[in-house]
Amino acid sequence: YVKENGRSHYRFYREDMNSTFTDLALMESHLRRAIEFNELAVYYQPQVNLNTGQIDSFEALLRWNNRKFGFVSPMEFIPLAEESGLIHTIGDWVLEVVCKQLKEWQDKQYRPVRIAVNISPKQFRSGDFALKTKELIEKHEIDASSFEVEITETALMHMNDTLLTLQKLKAIGVTISVDDFGTGYSSLSYLKQYPIDIIKIDRSFIKDIEHDKKNEAIAKTIINLAHNLGMEVIAEGVEKELQAKILKAAACHKAQGFLFSKPVPASQIVDQYFDWI
Ligand code: C2E
Ligand code: MG
Ligand code: MG
Ligand code: MG
Repeated sequence: YVKENGRSHYRFYREDMNSTFTDLALMESHLRRAIEFNELAVYYQPQVNLNTGQIDSFEALLRWNNRKFGFVSPMEFIPLAEESGLIHTIGDWVLEVVCKQLKEWQDKQYRPVRIAVNISPKQFRSGDFALKTKELIEKHEIDASSFEVEITETALMHMNDTLLTLQKLKAIGVTISVDDFGTGYSSLSYLKQYPIDIIKIDRSFIKDIEHDKKNEAIAKTIINLAHNLGMEVIAEGVEKELQAKILKAAACHKAQGFLFSKPVPASQIVDQYFDWI
């Protein structure tokens, strides 16, 4: 450790680790009761068509407002949920909430939209995920085309029965997207094996795209790759007008990011994006 600790911020991190670990155990016990205490909420971030400005899809993002810890980032509590196995209960809860939301909007006859749900590897692997999805869609009487699953490429690479599950999801009519594309430890061969509809360019390539020629080259290459494979492509984490402009010029048709909107509660989505027919 000693050599590593030569830099002060490393030492600080290590000293801090004990308390971090204690907090994690405590956090897990709070997370275990988050649903019953009504501390979880699903927010929605619009995905914008860069050509038309139209919004017809959203990404569902989980929010946790805990009585002790306050707002905890999913970057912290999702890994915790995965390790502890709580992801099954939490993931099921998210799926229910999203299906109910779609049903409500469908019943109110708002224009049709799609919602993308992040699926953790454990969730995707457990039981028959495709069957569960099918039953949920039937139970809530929602249009399967309004439902999208987001899976990271690392998750896709390291699972058995991935192809079969994806094929079943496709048969149901669900849209499949690869999240955080380009950051996983993976080969490209899965792109030809799996029935993928959408590639999501990871935020790390979009950040600084207006200054960083390498990021620009990578983003453009991913856009072309998607087009050549007949897939859609969406850029994540677009924060600046110039970034959107560069992406649009590179024929990236969709983007999401703080430039357009942060993830917001469903009520705000209704106020901002929906009209009655
Ligand atoms: P992700 O699926 O890649 O989601 C995109 C993340 O980028 C979200 O962070 C979103 O709020 C953030 N983001 C969107 N636009 C911008 C931008 O312009 N700039 C910046 N800096 N960030 C932007 P969030 O909500 O904190 O979620 C983090 C990760 O947690 C997600 O990454 C996803 O992997 C996971 N996650 C969130 N909700 C769920 C869920 O319901 N289930 C599972 N399994 N994972 C979830
Ligand atoms: Mg995602
Ligand atoms: Mg992502
Ligand atoms: Mg991510």
